[in-house]
This record gives sequence, C-alpha cells and structure tokens, in this order.
Amino acid sequence: MIPNEVIEQIAAANDIVEVVGSYFRLKRAGTVFKANCPFHNERTPSFTVNPQRQIFKCFGCGAGGDAFKFLMLTEGLTYPEAIKKIAVRVGVTIEEDKSEAVTLDTATLKLLHRWPMAPCEAPSGLAIDRAHRRLFAGCHNNMMVVLDADNGKIVATLPIGAGVDANGFDPGTQFAFSSNGGDGTLTVVHEESPEQFTVVENIQTQKGARTMALDERTHDIYLVTANFGPLPASTPEQPHPRPPIVSGSVVVLVYGR
Ligand code: ZN
Repeated sequence: MIPNEVIEQIAAANDIVEVVGSYFRLKRAGTVFKANCPFHNERTPSFTVNPQRQIFKCFGCGAGGDAFKFLMLTEGLTYPEAIKKIAVRVGVTIEEDKSEAVTLDTATLKLLHRWPMAPCEAPSGLAIDRAHRRLFAGCHNNMMVVLDADNGKIVATLPIGAGVDANGFDPGTQFAFSSNGGDGTLTVVHEESPEQFTVVENIQTQKGARTMALDERTHDIYLVTANFGPLPASTPEQPHPRPPIVSGSVVVLVYGR
C-alpha cells in the first residue's frame, strides 16, 4: 500500500500534458490540449487534456481521468503500477509498506529478526499463542497469517473480513480473533493444533467495530464503534476527511462464548 500523502506528492510533481505528450502529439487549443482519441477511432479530435485540472477527457467515448488513469488505460497497468511509473518520472522515492514481522529485544532494542509475511499485505493486528509459539497477524488484504514465532515460517493463511484492526488469542479456548471494522465482522479461528487452523465463524458485529479487548478469564470480547454520518467533502486543509461520529451513538459491543 502506498500512503495517500505520497500519491498526492507524486501527482503534484507530475504534469499530465508531458505524460500524454510522450505517447502522441498534443495540439494546444486555448487553455487545453487536443488530439485524436487513443481509445476510440475518430477523425476530428475530441480528446482533451486540461493542464489546470490535470485530467484528460474524451467527449467521444467518455474515457477520462488523471495521469494515473491514462497510464492504466494505455499500458494496461494496475493503479499501484501507474503510481510507481509516474514516481520514477518525477523522481519521488516510494517507501513501501514492507509487510514484515520484526523481532526486537525490548531490553537492548536490538533487531533480532526480520521476516517477510507475503502473501499478507499491510498487516495491522498481532496476537500471540505463547504456549505453541504462534503469531496471528491480521492483514488488509482480508487475510490472517499464522507465523511460527521462533523462525518466522508461515504456518497457515485464513480468510477474514475487511478492514481488520485488532487480533486476539485466547489460550483457554484456543480461539484466535480478528475484528474487522470495514465490513463489521469478527472472524473466529480455532487452533486445532499448532499446524492446523480453521475459520469457525464470521460474527456480524457493526461497521467500524475494529478496536478489540479480550478477557481471557471470562472469554468475552469487547468491541467499540459508533454510527457514522456521511463523509465530508475533502478540502485542501483536510484532504482525507473521516466520517463524523453521530452524537450519542458510541457503543461497546460484548460477545460471550
Ligand atoms: Zn475517445
């Protein structure tokens, strides 16, 4: 995952006229540039590039978007690939989320291990089964990865809900949990053995319920969420607004065994 701030930085340093112009000739027409559309057959140009708004638009076939979209359509790239290509063009280095597990000695702060976690992307939560030396990592590509806590080997991957935040492990029941705020689910995984894991249930909770606490004594799970209002329009001061919490709607959800 490339952070939004970095994508904005790349977009701000880029000029769509130069990107499109590196593929075919653009002719200036007042405040915009025109060409025959590369995405449909035409004899009179209805493809325009707007340098002020940094977008292209074809009034013939409807194709349009920013410089990233242009590369996706022209080169068949994915969105991250298009971002990387323009980053190289404008000389911005992307520090990628490495999706690694690292082990630190907390007394000396020495880095002991660095383990790749693929196919996990953007890990968020982490829980441990101390007795069997297993780590449970919730990843944003809707996956829980189980790692051997001593050698980093990936023991299992399991499907979970969207928007994971926290993970927990209950040694008394051998259940591992993933609270997924995106789709409002709690994925329950059972450790059959240290080598074998099964998704037993996806409990419907409530959208936004991602912060979790586990009581290992009572085996209860606590989640917090609220109702959210409509997402505000982005502004220059707040380019990535969060939806507002509806007053009086904050709830603690408790799930028992
Ligand atoms: Zn077109």
